[in-house]
Amino acid sequence: MARRRALGIFLIANQAWAWNATGHRIASAIAYDLLTEKARQGVDALLAAHPEYAAWSRDAPADPRHRARAVFLAASIWPDEIRSDTRFYDDTRPNVQPTPLLAGFPSMERHVNWHYIDVPISVDGAPSQPPKSPNALSELRRILKEIKNQRAPVQIHELPWLIHLEEDVHQPLHCVSRFLNAQPQGDAGGNGVYVTPGRNLHALWDGAAGTDSSDSYVNRAAAAISADFLERNGRHPRVSKNPGEWVNEGVELAIHEVYAFGPDAGERDRPIALTEQYQSNVRLLARTRLALAGLRLAAVLNDQIQVKDSR
Ligand SMILES: [Zn+2]
Repeated sequence: MARRRALGIFLIANQAWAWNATGHRIASAIAYDLLTEKARQGVDALLAAHPEYAAWSRDAPADPRHRARAVFLAASIWPDEIRSDTRFYDDTRPNVQPTPLLAGFPSMERHVNWHYIDVPISVDGAPSQPPKSPNALSELRRILKEIKNQRAPVQIHELPWLIHLEEDVHQPLHCVSRFLNAQPQGDAGGNGVYVTPGRNLHALWDGAAGTDSSDSYVNRAAAAISADFLERNGRHPRVSKNPGEWVNEGVELAIHEVYAFGPDAGERDRPIALTEQYQSNVRLLARTRLALAGLRLAAVLNDQIQVKDSR
């Protein structure tokens, strides 16, 4: 996998991937609670027909309404969980041996390169490389088109990916790779930038919503974050349903906020010391990104999921 090779072997064990489970579950809770009745029924039926439904509902409450909501939150982190699930294989590795196709799945590919798009940023004149495909943007565009036009069998498999990737691109470091003369292969969305506190810049942002993924924390955070956002932006803010716009926002935020400490990538034993002000800005921006991820996901699902298509 190019981004791993480029950054050397050490990074493999330390690579951070995405909003952690807390971040994904908060955005998903915000989205689910904004679904129309029709969309909610359609979404619930699609997830109930997914081959992983049993796993997603294992610890869910018994009453149907809360159970369906818990399943939605569980499905949103599933594309990250299959990275370490041996039933699935890393289709980006050269000469990889595919794992056996299990009943109900269209393929057993992990799609590890779908979670981000490396839009290049260069701040010191370093040459950069264009994003590779497939990427989060190419897949979001494809899935949004297909989920609208295709019938249930396709929708069932695409829905967890739509939820997850929509949320991923609201983490600005899922939208960029920064190229420096000292880092000519790019930093793989901040994975190659050593900071303190935390182990790298990407991981710091992934965990910006906290690390408690319990229902009580997630529900409290989702309610507070969405109330706060609506108070600052009005009850009916403009909600973009365009993945290109979501990614462009991430790139702008990366340029102006995420890399505000300057053209330095730190080193393992000389990490960049992030100020208290920088860290509190990360937490504040993360709340806005999660609110937008939730609002926009709900808007897309309300538009595109029709209950009749899932039956
Ligand atoms: Zn992800």
